[in-house]
Amino acid sequence: MTDKMVKKADLNELLNRLLEDYRVFAPVRRGDITTFQQISAADEPDFSCTNTILSPKSLMLPQSECLFDFTLEKGSDMAGIMREIDKDYSPRVIFGIRPCDAQSFQLLDLNFDTSPYRDPWWVRRRHHTTLVGLGCNVPCSTCFCTSVGGSPFAEDGLDLLLTDVGDEFALQAITEKGEQLLTKTGIDTEPSAATAKAVLACKESALGLMRSSVPTNNLEKHDATALFNADFWDKVQFACINCGICTYVCPTCWCFDIQDEVRKNNGVRLRNWDSCMSPLFTLHGSGHNPRNEKLQRVRQRFMHKLKYFVDKYERGVACVGCGRCVEQCPVNIDIREVVRLMNQFKV
Ligand code: SF4
Ligand code: SF4
Repeated sequence: MTDKMVKKADLNELLNRLLEDYRVFAPVRRGDITTFQQISAADEPDFSCTNTILSPKSLMLPQSECLFDFTLEKGSDMAGIMREIDKDYSPRVIFGIRPCDAQSFQLLDLNFDTSPYRDPWWVRRRHHTTLVGLGCNVPCSTCFCTSVGGSPFAEDGLDLLLTDVGDEFALQAITEKGEQLLTKTGIDTEPSAATAKAVLACKESALGLMRSSVPTNNLEKHDATALFNADFWDKVQFACINCGICTYVCPTCWCFDIQDEVRKNNGVRLRNWDSCMSPLFTLHGSGHNPRNEKLQRVRQRFMHKLKYFVDKYERGVACVGCGRCVEQCPVNIDIREVVRLMNQFKV
């Protein structure tokens, strides 16, 4: 696959060329917060933020989206028939996605794009999206991607990888989609030997800067029921206020709820993010709630990511080590500590 380089001063020109063929989404700073947004030629992306507070998950699985509409108006041809709402599936690029977030899409594919259950909205968005990653020269202190199958410059799940080497970005196409995008940029400058050397140095240095690691080697060996009944859950759940922030910021939390909103004779069917930390998440129509207690909900979040998923898919944990839940939890519940407790568990 092809390698090119672009001077940082020419990056806007590159983005403008992409804007001719794609909708481009990139991290943009508004006030104190950087989030992934659709950009125009006037926008200046913010590549200085290693981990945005919210992952780009919402670009694949929107926080709230209308799937269908319906009407019960008498005389309408469509009365009583659900109609899928048109959406924009034109080609788009997520530019500057971090490797852990790209890896999270691959984990979510297991849920949304696995026979026989294929989510058509997820599948179409994935198909029409090219992922241009930005390697992490300086991982955050809470990052632990190297413990869960990733790394600051992992290529898995990306179409193209950028490396920040001072005044330049090195561009490495990883897939055919990445090659096509690189062609559209019109960039034809090959990286110099010095740039190629700087790329290797960035990769090596980033690994040396990883400050967090967690052991996961015993998780699949443990008996799920014994782990479920472990004493430490009481300690883990003690401070949790069930705010759900950990699930909303997490790139691998995929739970959603379907709601119909109706006004007079017309309505829409919506899909909204949901959270296993909410008591309503498991409330049955009968009034019974199998996860009525906070302990049950906290345990479910960790058991799902670190045990049930591991046993079901044999692909490791459902966590890419981005550290967002560690940074954002208001009461400092730290998944790295919970992994340690689970991994070292003895009956
Ligand atoms: S962010 Fe912290 S306090 Fe809020 S639900 Fe998650 S673990 Fe509990
Ligand atoms: S569980 Fe926490 S560290 Fe793991 S992917 Fe989700 S937010 Fe990131």
